[in-house]
Amino acid sequence: DALANQIAAGEVVERPASCVKELIENSLDAKAKRIKIEVEEGGIRRLSVEDDGVGMDEQDAVLAFSRHATSKIIHARDLTRIQTLGFRGEALAAIAAVSKVSLTTRQSDQTHGIFLRIEGTSITDGPKPVGAPPGTRIVVEDLFYNTPVRLKYLRSVQTEFSRIVDVVQRAALSRPDVAFLLSHEGRVVFQSSGRGGQRSVLAALLGPVEATQLLEASQSSVTCQVTAWLGLPQQARSNRNHAYLFLNHRPIRNLSLHQAVAAGYGTRLMVGKHPIYALFVDMDPILADVNIHPHKSEVRLSEERDVSQLITRMVENALSDKHL
Ligand code: ADP
Ligand code: MG
Repeated sequence: DALANQIAAGEVVERPASCVKELIENSLDAKAKRIKIEVEEGGIRRLSVEDDGVGMDEQDAVLAFSRHATSKIIHARDLTRIQTLGFRGEALAAIAAVSKVSLTTRQSDQTHGIFLRIEGTSITDGPKPVGAPPGTRIVVEDLFYNTPVRLKYLRSVQTEFSRIVDVVQRAALSRPDVAFLLSHEGRVVFQSSGRGGQRSVLAALLGPVEATQLLEASQSSVTCQVTAWLGLPQQARSNRNHAYLFLNHRPIRNLSLHQAVAAGYGTRLMVGKHPIYALFVDMDPILADVNIHPHKSEVRLSEERDVSQLITRMVENALSDKHL
């Protein structure tokens, strides 16, 4: 069912950045503490994600690329309480359907690793034993080589790469306890240490000077808890690139929550400016329906109005406390 795989692939893998997102999520699910992302030509030519997580045995490694193979959901009722980032079991199959993928993986209690290469739906090399450090390394080459229409929709190398940067930075901010390293054409572009908490990642993101100016704020209600790092009104930018939103530590996009933050700044913001912020909403997963899109980044909240009001109030209070 090569065609079915390619159709499904289009939903998960839109561009290099979506590959990186899925691979990073798998690394985090595998309990990685260090994740290295290497990119060539905006990820179109080649991208790799390497982790020091639990790895896979030979059987899992082969199975990982078949659709709906996931080791993460045991019971159907788990779907309402998703703890791991991945749960659909289609990311690796989707990536393999539209690129040339190599996998090297080793469990720490094994003396050697497993290598295999997949093109489309077939294994073209391996599985065979190789020397490897504990963890998993996945290399994705020639993305969309077999789907020219998708290739045509990709933007410039620089644009595709900037989307990867965004994905990696949001992941780093959601997991300050994990060290991330991102390089493009062999040059390190972003790095987080895995130590020093959210402020340390924000310093890596914004620069140390901007990061020290951020205000810390928090507020909670019966249904949810919100914590935030808020930029000063004069730090606001003309784009939304530095507006980071997380739900239960998963990076999300949600326009109403963004508007709720801006409403808290109110007239302190100049027209056309967007505040810098990192906002973390934590609530019972049952109230947050994450399972609405394969990308899992668009999230519907069942209490959206309440959460928005809480956010606006928190931002307003934090700023007026500082007489801003
Ligand atoms: P999902 O994450 O939804 O389970 P994926 O297609 O992303 O589906 O991955 C399939 C399976 O491959 C995972 O359930 C996991 O068992 C295994 N896997 C993928 N990436 C890694 C990794 N970096 N480390 C360990 N296991 C992995
Ligand atoms: Mg996954």
